[in-house]
Amino acid sequence: MKEKLLDLLACPSCGGDILLAYASKYLDKEIIEAVLTCRKCDREYKVERGIPRFAALDKIEQDKAETAENFGWQWTHFTQENKLYAQQFLGWLQPVKKEFFKDKIVLEGGCGKGRHTTLAANWGAKEVVGIDLSAAVETAFQATKDLPNVHIVQADIFKLPFKRAFDYAFSVGVLHHTPDPKKAFLSLASKVKKGGAISAWVYGEENNDWIINLVNPIRKGFTSKINQPTLYQLSKLPTLGVFLASKLIYKPLNKTAKPLAKRLFYNDYLNHIGDFNWREQHNIVFDHLVAPTAFYISREEFEKWWQETGAKDVEIIWHNQNSWCGFGRI
Ligand SMILES: [Zn+2]
Repeated sequence: MKEKLLDLLACPSCGGDILLAYASKYLDKEIIEAVLTCRKCDREYKVERGIPRFAALDKIEQDKAETAENFGWQWTHFTQENKLYAQQFLGWLQPVKKEFFKDKIVLEGGCGKGRHTTLAANWGAKEVVGIDLSAAVETAFQATKDLPNVHIVQADIFKLPFKRAFDYAFSVGVLHHTPDPKKAFLSLASKVKKGGAISAWVYGEENNDWIINLVNPIRKGFTSKINQPTLYQLSKLPTLGVFLASKLIYKPLNKTAKPLAKRLFYNDYLNHIGDFNWREQHNIVFDHLVAPTAFYISREEFEKWWQETGAKDVEIIWHNQNSWCGFGRI
């Protein structure tokens, strides 16, 4: 933890300022082991292995903990090298461009192992804070500790330990895996300063009937319950189907016979991921099978979220015919 993070922190219980009570271990300028206290209510929060801990997995509700643990395992087993990833990330943040990050204080709701956090930092953000509930914060911290403008915090998106101090907040692929996606979104939005902006990317309900009717029961009843290394192996089978279809059918037909391709099942998305390699496709399939909680959000419902924040200039973009990108100014 870098000491300047204290300026952004606030007690998740009472909103009071957070102070550094004492630090017992530093590494260069990084605080590795310490105790933080709330000026107002005296609650204490630990910094362990360089990460401030505002939520501990053993204290949070069961379903949140399961989601966090499952994704934590995933994020430590899929490595992050990927030249397409920056492009994919910007696809989720539409209409935001990378220049948008410049000099902003940014909050990421659900940072996993810190891929987006790293991109935002490299694109010139003044400070980027990535929060996650899961053990993936350990990987995120290791991946980003040498970047002077990145901060990783273990926290619950429903009880964010921050002041309303951010110029921009974003969350991609996370809100729909929380027990109450709208509430998580509103919680994130509440940390954005007036005049700031927020982006969110969520699974759409539209066009996803087959996932909702076919994949969800398998996910809920079976794949989210089995152990992760087994699912990692098992999920190679459906990945093979997706991989062959996208590479041998969707990609070529979209190049040579667009009108025909358009009539194919789930064409926009399968054509889109036809550019991805095996590992990335495996990651996507695994993602759809591992989460104990997943919601599919209709446009109507998504619009209500934005109305409730009172955001202005809201843009909602249909992404790959299966998900929603939202952007608005607070
Ligand atoms: Zn407090």
